[in-house]
Amino acid sequence: MRNGLAGLALLAGTVAMGQTVTSPHLMDAPTVASCNSTDEWATPAEKACYAITPDYAATMAYLDRVQKAAPGQVKIETFGRTGEGRDLDIVIVSKDGVFDPAEIHAAKRPVVLVQNSIHAGETDGKDACLALLRDMVVTKSKSALLDRAVFVFIPMYNADGHERRSRYSRINQDGPAEMGWRGNGMNLNLNRDYLKADAPETRSFLAMFHRWLPDFFVDDHVTDGADYQYDVTFTIDDGPNLPAATAKWVDDVATPTLEKYVDGHGHLAAPTYITLTNDNDPSQGLGFNDNPPRFSTGYMILEGRPGMLAELHMLKDYKTRVTGNYELLAGLMEMVNREADKLIALNAAADKEAEAMGAHPLSNVKYPLALSWGGQTTPFLFRGYKYTRELSAVSGAMWVRYTHEPWNVSLPFQSGYKVAAETTLPAAYLIPAQWTQVIDVLAAHQVEMTRTTAPWSGDVETYRCAGMTWQETPFEGRHPTFNGEAMHDAGRFGNCVLVRERMSFPSGSALVRLNQRLSKVAVEWLEPQAPDSAMQWGFFDSIFEQKEYGEAYVLEELSREMMAKDPQLKSEFEKKVASDPVFAGNPYARLEFFYERSPWYAANRVGLYPVGRLGSLEGIPLAK
Ligand SMILES: [Zn+2]
Repeated sequence: MRNGLAGLALLAGTVAMGQTVTSPHLMDAPTVASCNSTDEWATPAEKACYAITPDYAATMAYLDRVQKAAPGQVKIETFGRTGEGRDLDIVIVSKDGVFDPAEIHAAKRPVVLVQNSIHAGETDGKDACLALLRDMVVTKSKSALLDRAVFVFIPMYNADGHERRSRYSRINQDGPAEMGWRGNGMNLNLNRDYLKADAPETRSFLAMFHRWLPDFFVDDHVTDGADYQYDVTFTIDDGPNLPAATAKWVDDVATPTLEKYVDGHGHLAAPTYITLTNDNDPSQGLGFNDNPPRFSTGYMILEGRPGMLAELHMLKDYKTRVTGNYELLAGLMEMVNREADKLIALNAAADKEAEAMGAHPLSNVKYPLALSWGGQTTPFLFRGYKYTRELSAVSGAMWVRYTHEPWNVSLPFQSGYKVAAETTLPAAYLIPAQWTQVIDVLAAHQVEMTRTTAPWSGDVETYRCAGMTWQETPFEGRHPTFNGEAMHDAGRFGNCVLVRERMSFPSGSALVRLNQRLSKVAVEWLEPQAPDSAMQWGFFDSIFEQKEYGEAYVLEELSREMMAKDPQLKSEFEKKVASDPVFAGNPYARLEFFYERSPWYAANRVGLYPVGRLGSLEGIPLAK
């Protein structure tokens, strides 16, 4: 992760809670603590002493009850349908019954959007939102959180996964008794789908998101990974593609404020998602996390909005986690009310900055496309648990066994980043009309496009790409050029070189100018070397296919002609035969050597990226 170090420094002042936690009861029913569940407004989880999370119908029934009790402050709106046909809903909580986003923005009231259950086994945020909603509008103990801000939440984003309930959904997690499934109805991970937008849920989300354009976004999860004392962990991105002023506010204000609030309300927060550099040896330290736009919070960077990944710790009991998530959201609402003017101004400035991206076309201003760890480490006061390591006869590797004895230690934390790939920016991209799926994804993101009104040919910048390899096993139903969850696998992608080519674009080709609020979405989708580009996800795979081949008896003659004309080529061929036994033993490869060096092969245009980068719009046929 690339969280600000300002937030980390505060850790030194926090106090370990020394709370006791239980291991996950993998084969038993979850422990039920004693609790008072007679309150008529207890949420379904509270009523069951946090032994369960309600299913879709029971969740919606509770929300409907609250809405009926406070119709002037709560509205439930359907924003789409899942693949299996369930309604996708948002709950809007506004103190004065104004539920229209345009009216709310005009009144300079900040909007917080909280997404729950994208991984539907991770329902902590959903049950926290039910309790927070009740406390805002029924008991009114938290009504002050609506003074200025409007609270909008998605109770169950992956609603189909939510209803695939089982006690065996999440092996690492301590309760509730039954929980939903990580994938949607097609077993796609919606938290890898933000940019490519394959799933109907993503398409619905994008339309809803742009209608609301919230000022702060939260995605609630439960961790995997190591054991440690923290029950609440969170990351608010502050990477280089977020405007500098927003990143500074995240580091100086948002992250330390939330950490302090959570710690002051009976929980222990880590201002970063904890990733060990070596799962078998926690003492080696904490790793770098990058957040490309396949993730919700990575996508928020392109929207110019602060986005928080909330991760409650899987090994804490459900009550600890739900109440921890509640405090994190309550602290966020308190801060957003207080920081409303600043936050609204930062977001307006971010939009202006994005709109100016097309203003310096093809200049030396570089846009960072892919990041990796910068090679530095910073000391991090880690509140872990003591552990033992021994050689395991089962795995043959070291076996880490955690105790519940606090281990407060300074560990190296991978900090900083380096730019692994970057590019200059054009004024606009031109996508040939026939690449309908590529254009359709940009349309789903509401990126503004204009269609050309006549065929056009001209010199444009584009890329020639070679050396691509594709992953053999599927990842999110595709075979991308990167290696699944490994995000810094730049070597696998091959190499794309910027070239100038004369190219032809049919009438109806899509012109994407970068002088728009969503310019970063266009850049990340259309620059081949961006980590979640259409190219990397396989939308352009067919450009790497050779479609015409030479017959052996034709190539026999061609090769002789070419060698007679070009002694250097002849010697190159002979050297390859002498030095490369695999080549020498492959008659097809030996003839193909000549075809690949002939104009007939060039006509295949293998690896020529079909999208044009335009320095200006001069001569492009557009409607007046
Ligand atoms: Zn998750």
